[in-house]
Amino acid sequence: MSGRKRISILGATGSVGQSTLDLVDRDPDAFEVIAVTAFRDVEGLADVARKHAAKVAVIGDQTLESELESALAGSGIATAAGAQAICDAAAMDADFVMAAIVGAAGVRPVMAAIEAGTTVGLANKESLVSAGSLMLEAARKRGVTILPVDSEHNAIFQCFDHERPGGIASIILTASGGPFREWTREQMRDVTPERAVQHPNWSMGAKISIDSATLMNKGLELIEARYLFDLPPDDCRIVVHPQSVIHSLVEYRDGSVLAQLGAPDMRIPIAHTLAWPERMETPCERLNLAEIARLDFEEPDAERFPAIALARSAMEAGGARPAILNAANEEAVAAFLANRIGFLDIAEIVARVLNGYAPNAPQTLDDVFAIDAEARAHAQQQMESLAA
Ligand code: NAD
Ligand code: MG
Repeated sequence: MSGRKRISILGATGSVGQSTLDLVDRDPDAFEVIAVTAFRDVEGLADVARKHAAKVAVIGDQTLESELESALAGSGIATAAGAQAICDAAAMDADFVMAAIVGAAGVRPVMAAIEAGTTVGLANKESLVSAGSLMLEAARKRGVTILPVDSEHNAIFQCFDHERPGGIASIILTASGGPFREWTREQMRDVTPERAVQHPNWSMGAKISIDSATLMNKGLELIEARYLFDLPPDDCRIVVHPQSVIHSLVEYRDGSVLAQLGAPDMRIPIAHTLAWPERMETPCERLNLAEIARLDFEEPDAERFPAIALARSAMEAGGARPAILNAANEEAVAAFLANRIGFLDIAEIVARVLNGYAPNAPQTLDDVFAIDAEARAHAQQQMESLAA
């Protein structure tokens, strides 16, 4: 590609957004920032927009429109507010969109980028879990490449023979096991949000940190992988690997297993998508295998971490189930972070919502949002009955 790569960053103030901008910052001759978006952090967004000389800055919360305007007055950077404005920013002419919004709130912006024909770096796994079939169909129609940013899926993408997928027997997602890998359920009962967000290997946003503690993150990733790599559910597997050095593996029919390794630093998979199909330098720590000395693996414990089985059954059932699982989980995690429910209640709420009813498979994005809204209402009801 000649000239600078023009990129937009959705969720620019978050953990993945900031890691992306850190890389962009180190190579200003390679990238030009078009649009940046955030939900409520006006100051953070204005800083990012100025620092990277973005063309447009968009705040999701409509009520903050004039605050953003004042923060960027005189900068020459255009401003806008609201959910539709984020979609418009996602659809701006660019070479690459980093989709780093958290939650199903990312569905429409990701679709807008796909429909504009732009290559998407997808960190926002919830959007794929909620609307995977529709999203991939739109990408196929438009000839859009979706590059997975999630470290496991990025690892699989790098090891996957995209030309000859028939040779692949299975994909194996690694899981660190989270902060409670060795805890009993009794010990997990009383953990606080402050404790649960402390991940042993990765530094991430609050929602994914809680998902990593319940292992729902791995469940969501299983569904994400099934959509991205189009394998039967039985061929998508999980192994716990506490050191987070191997980020995932692809097993071939002849018994060969290819793995991608690296320091647990999101800037490595982000750099892979930013530079793709080329490679770029990163400041990330290099692996010293002799120092690491050993790598451990174990089966995930389905009894202590019921989220994995919930996600697997939602993946196998397909239809509306993955969107219900995701929406119920988003509500339960938010309630846990607000100290409204306990840690073990998160998976319990998701299980109750999934077992409560069975809507039809979504045919359109509007169907997805109706399913999402209904599942959130069910989750709220379940949480009230839990508290009663
Ligand atoms: P974060 O909470 O740090 O950042 C989220 C970003 O999304 C922020 O910029 C926020 O302003 C924006 N946002 C939140 N709600 C929004 C809404 N309703 N509308 C518009 N924008 C909204 O999250 P994160 O850890 O950076 O994760 C982002 C996504 O990437 C998640 O889907 C997560 O699962 C995935 N992911 C993150 C990591 C990681 O290391 N952090 C790794 C793999 C995948
Ligand atoms: Mg991951």
